[in-house]
Amino acid sequence: MCGIIGYIGENKKASEIIDLLSMLEYRGYDSAGLSGYSGNKFELIKEIGPIDNLRAQISSDMQVSNAIAHTRWATHGASSIENAHPHRSSDGKWILVHNGIIENYKKLKNGLKTVPTGQTDTEVLVQY
Ligand code: GLU
Repeated sequence: MCGIIGYIGENKKASEIIDLLSMLEYRGYDSAGLSGYSGNKFELIKEIGPIDNLRAQISSDMQVSNAIAHTRWATHGASSIENAHPHRSSDGKWILVHNGIIENYKKLKNGLKTVPTGQTDTEVLVQY
């Protein structure tokens, strides 16, 4: 089952967000990701495997504002960086994490103008 950490506020060390995500490791997961506003853009960093793989992708002094982080337990699509959460809309306006299953995702996918690049059910909610 996935884990989700949300942070609303200014200039938090990304490593501290990852520390919080680590507290949810016991729930089980196959990949992890983090998105937060940093350096005038929303960074999106994802890795498969242990959370320490994600930690290795960030610098120790990286700070984020308004961040969200996720551990994924894949239900739809392989464990891959592409399928790991968070997912970003193709226009960059939305970033999404999700826990669970979207039963009617195939029907929703058929109605999208933007074809999702990954295989998850989740992406149908962030593309349009
Ligand atoms: N169904 C989604 C996926 O496969 C979310 C899985 C989860 O709850 O971690 O990506």
